Amino acid sequence: MNNSRFCRGQYIGGQWRSPAGSETFAVVNPATEEVIVNVPAGNRDDIEAAVSAARQAFDSGPWPRMSGAQRGVCLRKIAEIISRRQDELAELEVLDNGKPLPEAQWDIEDAAGTFEYYAELSEELDSSSERAVAVPEPRFSTTVRKEPIGVAGAIIPWNYPMLMASWKVAPALAAGCSLVLKPSEITPLTAMALAEIVDEAGLPPGVFNMVTGLGKDAGQALTEHPGVDKLAFTGSVPTGSKIMAVAARDIKNISLELGGKSPFVIFADSDIEQAVEWIMFGIFWNQGQVCSATSRVLVEESLYPKLMERLVEEAEKISIGEGNQEGVLLGPLVNADQYSKVLAAIERGLEEGAKIATGGRRPADLDKGYYLEPTVFTDMTEDSWIWREEIFGPVVCVKTFSNEEEAIRLANDSRFGLAAAVMSKDEQRCERVARAFRAGIVWVNCSQPTFVEAPWGGYKQSGIGRELGQWGLNNYLETKQITRFNGSEPWAWYIK
Ligand code: NAD
Repeated sequence: MNNSRFCRGQYIGGQWRSPAGSETFAVVNPATEEVIVNVPAGNRDDIEAAVSAARQAFDSGPWPRMSGAQRGVCLRKIAEIISRRQDELAELEVLDNGKPLPEAQWDIEDAAGTFEYYAELSEELDSSSERAVAVPEPRFSTTVRKEPIGVAGAIIPWNYPMLMASWKVAPALAAGCSLVLKPSEITPLTAMALAEIVDEAGLPPGVFNMVTGLGKDAGQALTEHPGVDKLAFTGSVPTGSKIMAVAARDIKNISLELGGKSPFVIFADSDIEQAVEWIMFGIFWNQGQVCSATSRVLVEESLYPKLMERLVEEAEKISIGEGNQEGVLLGPLVNADQYSKVLAAIERGLEEGAKIATGGRRPADLDKGYYLEPTVFTDMTEDSWIWREEIFGPVVCVKTFSNEEEAIRLANDSRFGLAAAVMSKDEQRCERVARAFRAGIVWVNCSQPTFVEAPWGGYKQSGIGRELGQWGLNNYLETKQITRFNGSEPWAWYIK
């Protein structure tokens, strides 16, 4: 692999610029623990340059003034280039994040699909961004316009690097915003490739800028910058809370996509094989490093023994290894830090008295890389840490319930509210439970399917606002009313 392209600096104002400082950080392959490349650690000066380029592009450049259809052409071009480079981008994601190659391929396809989808919405803006609203005074007429919000700062996590970038970059561009993207320092490689792609697509300089760097430096500087109108953040609750506090200083518009501890309620009339399949998809996909992972499984008592038997059997069959090896379903966790956090969570669960039905250790045949067996916990108490807190690894907690009311109570008893799932052959019961869940994303008889057309985001501490669909575009639009006086006489208040 040609690594020198990851060292050339920051993508600012339509070109690769040497970094302002000399600091770098190591990007590590989690399957081998080897350093792939050292990447520039952007600092406050890099962010200053990037925001100023984005500001100029927004305040006086062509992008926000183009028609939606013209912007749509550029977005489609980006989608095309992503599709053309799909294999290379997927391999990069495996190297950087550790996920199995088929999952990475899926992510890249989804990223291209996200740009395609927002190209359409951008085109639609030409006819939908201005409409009349009826006002009761005949001498006045009012129209409401949707306008781009300005310069966006997009800060993303490491679990779906390319996809999370596309969920922010595509709608921001469709709306007519310019932006600065700050990828996670753990997985910056596909964001750098995205800068190459945007460059090839020929966007006006300064519309898209990308700065690699640490959260506490580049991330913090972007959050604090007065030239940023909108902050779009995906990551952990503690960081989201810090960003919200900083944004409050100058009343920046924010959207936050944060963590979760999502429940999956399985009633006794469910098909066991289906239930096991969806439980595993809900917690072992992407090594469980999924914000919406259904990490708390609630099973009706009578189904519990049989379901546990099948779940353990199937979890033990999962092939673990390097993401680029054929047939691997579970790769390494993303880095040493995440690995030790998940191991510490398992330790804590055991100290709290919970029992491990399977997993909980490094696989015996893998002595390098951040590997962990798929882990199933049982017998945890309702107030235990392991039942209540996000682990962000392939660790599921299974608990029983005796009736629908108890299932709903246990499911909703959480400070998070990102996702929730229910399984039963009784459609009416599924509807009742789906409506009772306090969560932004609800799945019935499945877990995790995600569509770019449908809103994504959480209740409670899982975040503020929604990404994807029309809601994702609205994140980057302001609403303006224009009210015109059409009367011939003066307004007749002071002058009689
Ligand atoms: P994180 O909060 O540690 O980091 C996320 C990003 O914030 C990174 O780019 C980081 O550099 C940056 N950052 C860190 N400190 C900062 C600061 N003080 N100011 C500005 N930026 C800062 O999260 P993570 O470990 O990368 O991701 C895992 C978390 O993300 C999990 O909690 C997961 O649930 C959540 N997540 C949520 C969604 C969703 O859609 N709701 C999607 C993916 C991940």
